[in-house]
Amino acid sequence: MPVSRRTILLAGGAVAAGSAAIPVEKHISWSGRDFARTDYDDDYPEAPEGEESWMNWSGVQRATPTEISLPVSEDDVSAVVASAPGHVRPFGSGHSFTGLAPSEGVMVDVSRLTGMKALDATTGQAVFGAGTRLFQMATELSEVGRALPNLPDIDVQTLAGSFSTATHGTGETLTALHDHVAGFRLVTATGDVLDVTRESHPDIFAAGRVSLGALGVITQYTLKTVPSFNLHRKVWVEPIDDLIARAEDLAGTHRNFEFYYFPHTGYGAAISHDLHKGPVTGRGDDIDDETLDQLKMLRNQFGWSPWLRRKIIGAALPKGTIEDFSDSSYKLLSTTRPTKFNEMEYHLPRENGIKALKQVIAQLETHKHVFFPMEVRFIAPDDAWLSPFNSGPHISVAIHAAVDEPYDYFYSEIEPIHRANGGRPHWGKHHSLGKDELMLLYPKFGNFLALRRELDPAGKFLNPHLAHMFGETFDA
Ligand SMILES: Cc1cc2nc3c(=O)[nH]c(=O)nc-3n(C[C@H](O)[C@H](O)[C@H](O)COP(=O)(O)OP(=O)(O)OC[C@H]3O[C@@H](n4cnc5c(N)ncnc54)[C@H](O)[C@@H]3O)c2cc1C
Repeated sequence: MPVSRRTILLAGGAVAAGSAAIPVEKHISWSGRDFARTDYDDDYPEAPEGEESWMNWSGVQRATPTEISLPVSEDDVSAVVASAPGHVRPFGSGHSFTGLAPSEGVMVDVSRLTGMKALDATTGQAVFGAGTRLFQMATELSEVGRALPNLPDIDVQTLAGSFSTATHGTGETLTALHDHVAGFRLVTATGDVLDVTRESHPDIFAAGRVSLGALGVITQYTLKTVPSFNLHRKVWVEPIDDLIARAEDLAGTHRNFEFYYFPHTGYGAAISHDLHKGPVTGRGDDIDDETLDQLKMLRNQFGWSPWLRRKIIGAALPKGTIEDFSDSSYKLLSTTRPTKFNEMEYHLPRENGIKALKQVIAQLETHKHVFFPMEVRFIAPDDAWLSPFNSGPHISVAIHAAVDEPYDYFYSEIEPIHRANGGRPHWGKHHSLGKDELMLLYPKFGNFLALRRELDPAGKFLNPHLAHMFGETFDA
């Protein structure tokens, strides 16, 4: 019998009941507060006549390019790139928080380069359009009995977008998504096409799996796949100190292990996935949004008293197992994230991960308004030049803020903790690092910069964010 996620909702009822018992005057000044950030805008930017309007998922990156091009073939991509008078930036589903994609020149939407083109039944290698969304790739692979070994939290990103920023799931023996790339086709700044494998172009292969879209537009990937498999998912709630103490062991015990911490509660939720044989139960409803609403309600009502907030949620949260399901790997590993947020995620060398995590929790909890859960994951090493994981096993620590609330403390208070612990930022999530810092963090950063200059001497694929990270001047 699967355990229903509705358990958390029932506990939410207890929270609401608790709130009724608190005299209004005790928290009136707190709940009269406005938690919103003043510069938040959820509308697309107003584009001047003849220009287009673009923004990313969280609305924090915005642009009014001269054109958003929607090529339907590799030839189209070549023509667009070769004929563009100024800068060109490819983009996928716009799920990066950093300024990787925006351009005031031509933005190339690769979402029509999609679907499985070929499958080698002997090797299991599959060729996909670079704009294929992860859920489409997973579904098409499943129809032919194949899968990727791992997936991230959500699956609406494109292949090109995910690989280009080193998007990852969790699992101490499992590598980030780009490590499953066996080859790709790259349209360079001249409009020429390179067919890249480890053997044909070793340096471009090492640089191009995590390329930040800086080497050109990738039109298709050849992926290494595995036979499809089922997983058993368990989610349980536990005091965060116990969870942190057991985290390294749990990561070693389960195929996929991660945990969330609910700030100001003292409790975390752990998620494990292990290989499953036999009939499956299927997956229950997603109620992550309802849980977030409850955490926000708690913050709004009891944030003025951290002690009371901790006590109320401590009593209301269900303890022990709250989900117990089995299903196909791709149906369990990714979920949906309808509630929008901003995020900073740093990848820490495994030996510093737990230390950094404790420091981040202590610092975050100096802010009474913080309520969004933090996420902690484990990732195995690979060898791409700009992979944050290429120096050994890593623990990733991600913090989030509601999309319309301030997140300046990510930069002023949390990023310094990560940097002091040798952390490398997720390329697609908030960070402030420029060339000097990145050169120190990545032994091959100089090689990447030299290769980029060789492939794109005029800087066609630059924008201000890339220019900052590469130490280039940006001519608009
Ligand atoms: C709700 C949410 C959940 C997330 N969950 C996770 C997670 O679990 N794990 C994780 O690691 N990350 C996660 N991310 C981050 C996300 O996976 C990355 O930012 C990813 O890059 C987004 O893919 P995209 O298709 O939206 O690409 P975009 O953000 O549109 O682009 C990302 C980069 O790819 C480049 N690019 C796109 N297409 C091409 C192309 N055809 N050729 C060359 N370059 C190209 C762009 O130029 C840019 O540099 C999450 C983000 C959000 C908003």
